[in-house]
Amino acid sequence: MTSYDRYAEKALRDEVLTRDECRDVLATPDDRTIELLAAAYTVRERYFGKKVRLQMLLNAKSGACQEDCGYCSQSAVSTADIERYGLVSKEQMLDGARRAAASKAQRYCVVISGRSPLDREVEEIADAVRAVKKEIPIQVCCSLGLLNEQQARSLKAAGVDRINHNLNTSEAYHSEICTTHTFQDRLATIRHARTAGLEICSGGIIGMGEQDDDVIELALALRDVKPDSIPLNMLHPVEGTPLQDCRQLTPQRCLKIFSLFRFLHPRTEIRVAGGREFNLRSLQPLALYAADSLFVNGYLTTPGQLAPDAWKMITDLGFEIEVDYKQAAENDPQLRSQSLKPLNVLPQYASGSSLPAALPGGHFEQPVK
Ligand code: SF4
Repeated sequence: MTSYDRYAEKALRDEVLTRDECRDVLATPDDRTIELLAAAYTVRERYFGKKVRLQMLLNAKSGACQEDCGYCSQSAVSTADIERYGLVSKEQMLDGARRAAASKAQRYCVVISGRSPLDREVEEIADAVRAVKKEIPIQVCCSLGLLNEQQARSLKAAGVDRINHNLNTSEAYHSEICTTHTFQDRLATIRHARTAGLEICSGGIIGMGEQDDDVIELALALRDVKPDSIPLNMLHPVEGTPLQDCRQLTPQRCLKIFSLFRFLHPRTEIRVAGGREFNLRSLQPLALYAADSLFVNGYLTTPGQLAPDAWKMITDLGFEIEVDYKQAAENDPQLRSQSLKPLNVLPQYASGSSLPAALPGGHFEQPVK
């Protein structure tokens, strides 16, 4: 039995790895990464079998943020060439949900740029969510920045299922990547969402110059948060952002971190999030031996794997897409054809519209805030 098998056994007994054991996972020699992943898979298999959940994003408002998050192309300190637009219409949010369903996504996430949403924006999003819920049996998540309790309650009342708000990195390293809000501000938003009865999606971004111990502290802090899902983003450095030259990640490093998160969060949905294609490259499928969830159809400003290619990757692995409702795609040829269109471009948005051609495009590489 390898030490990795022992870590898997601990995870299956709901015991927390010690910090030294976590360090040992991250120090795995590259040529033992497969052994580590095999151990992580025993945990993944226990709680998730071979199921893979899909999620799709809509970047519903892009750019012009006054915050200084170093990884983000929309920040006040970024000179990245990105699309900027205000909150999209209700119909555009509804179209995004139709496309998510056609892509076999269980969950549709509406994301906006900025520190916090205006109350008016919360109301407009809530109105769109009511329309989505009336028409499409899909889970809805919102990633809107810092929220107060009343805003969280409005979203819950409209039918929003889950709020995404990431911790991003360790509390100790947070001020290295953002000075305009704090780690504690982030925790407060999570508390407000939970008080309002919303599920919580909270994860982080790796590859921002952090040390192993920061990755470990992030994973342990998330144990306290007890999120329903953990999106793990891998920095895709964007030219014009403070982290444009940060090239810390290798595919093996990403796989070791996913394995660590599986050991520390055995029963939690773990999503391979932004930067998947850029950082994991040809090893993308291997991440699913530790994680159980993926984004399809790209991220906020960057393209990503199209849904049909993700379906193929999943079935080639011998895994299966989990759909917990009768998918519109199976029965509706028009919806199905939407999911097969080139990334992010629906005909009504391709030209002559106030919404840029990228449908969920326009934010930064990480899909969540
Ligand atoms: S991550 Fe969100 S809050 Fe931070 S700069 Fe980007 S848009 Fe603003």
